[in-house]
Amino acid sequence: MKEKISIYNSLSRKKETLKPIVKDYIGMYVCGPTVYGDPHLGHARPAITFDVVYRYLKWCGYKVRYVRNITDAGHLENDAEEGEDKITKKARLEQLEPMEVAHLYTLSYHRAMKLLNCQSPSIEPRATGHIIEQIEMIKKIMKNDFAYEKNGSVYLDVNKYNQHYPYGILSGRNLEDTLTGTRELDRQSEKNSPVDFAIWKKASKEHIMKWASPWGEGFPGWHMECSAMSEKYLGKTFDIHGGGMDLVFPHHEAEIAQSNACNKCMPVNYWMHNNMITIDGKKMGKSLGNFINLEEFFTGDHKKLNKAYSPMTIRFFILQAHYRSTLDFGNDALQAAEKGCAKLMEAITTLNQLHPVAESSFNVAEIKQECIDAINDDFNTPILLANLFEGVKIINSIKDGKATINNTDLEKLKKIYQDFAIDILGLNVMEENNDDLTDDVMGIILLLRKNAKENKDFNTADLIRDELDKKGIQIKDTREGSSWGIKK
Ligand code: ZN
Repeated sequence: MKEKISIYNSLSRKKETLKPIVKDYIGMYVCGPTVYGDPHLGHARPAITFDVVYRYLKWCGYKVRYVRNITDAGHLENDAEEGEDKITKKARLEQLEPMEVAHLYTLSYHRAMKLLNCQSPSIEPRATGHIIEQIEMIKKIMKNDFAYEKNGSVYLDVNKYNQHYPYGILSGRNLEDTLTGTRELDRQSEKNSPVDFAIWKKASKEHIMKWASPWGEGFPGWHMECSAMSEKYLGKTFDIHGGGMDLVFPHHEAEIAQSNACNKCMPVNYWMHNNMITIDGKKMGKSLGNFINLEEFFTGDHKKLNKAYSPMTIRFFILQAHYRSTLDFGNDALQAAEKGCAKLMEAITTLNQLHPVAESSFNVAEIKQECIDAINDDFNTPILLANLFEGVKIINSIKDGKATINNTDLEKLKKIYQDFAIDILGLNVMEENNDDLTDDVMGIILLLRKNAKENKDFNTADLIRDELDKKGIQIKDTREGSSWGIKK
């Protein structure tokens, strides 16, 4: 069953019906994090937005190859063309190897994504693992005469490109606008024109992360990695490319130009961009003091937070807004999301305890259709949630004896909540609570075993250990006490 999905395409600036290039298969690329710091809200929004897209496409029966990169080289400070590499700078400040920095923050990104219940992409390629592919692509662009070398750096010739392909097609900026924006900054530049951008940069002596190339030692321009890796894993043209709206220019515009200049075809059919997150109406920024990373949300350990917020509250909050709307984080709004999420999860628990009768007093098929219509309309998660909350009213009125449901409809209603709330929106508060509950129950078992040992009832103590072992749970006894873990 393939649903008719409508996507707002940033390229055409209108909603279009999704038509995959290959039947039953979708290739999707999303720009991932530059791993030089702890993940924050700005990472959570695209991850959750495209996690829902990924989950829904799979639910519809598509085979999806979801590629999300890790930027571990080439991304310079302030997204600029000159300056220090973000990862190298962090490495210098913390006296670490650049790869240590990248590894550390890749782990912390993965940890946060798991807590937010974002499924792992199919492939997570790294920029440093694809230097050869990037060099090959640059060579092709030069062969096609869309780039030139200057003092060991290679630049894309934007004016020349613009004679063959429309530069600015995604961002809506024309060459004139771009020129006005860059003229002042680039007076001293070695580039032929201020609008040209680096696809390979000569490395200075101090630059640590550099590689040999036909143009001498250097490193790829930040935009190159996504063009090279998306082509390698998804082909010259693929279905969906996602990312935050802040990436439209210059990053995604540059990707389009690089791919056209190399392969003479547009790389992407549907461009999707999630909007930005503000905190108390202001842009997030380290210098503004309102920069809250995800770990701080989960622990509540930040002066702007009144309390801790669970990963599911954050997820629910992000899904309450359409991905193309701005989203403002504040304590009141988060607490409202926390309540809303709990109400939905309680209703799912209630649903599983309802008793069917002979007649239903409402139409289950209608609820399902409304949910499908919402998600098919450019992944409208707030409307989908509103429809699920309409269903919550019905569930509660059945519980209160004001409405009835028959057995077939009850099973259908359970499936709607399993599919839309848990599988597609990825809300799994019950699992979260279950983890806490398991911890509590295991605490009680370990206490009983401790008491048995103290009373020299070693048979009971061993019985508890052996029976748990059969279930794959391992007890470790140390001088400090006992702990438990799942056997590997
Ligand atoms: Zn990218």
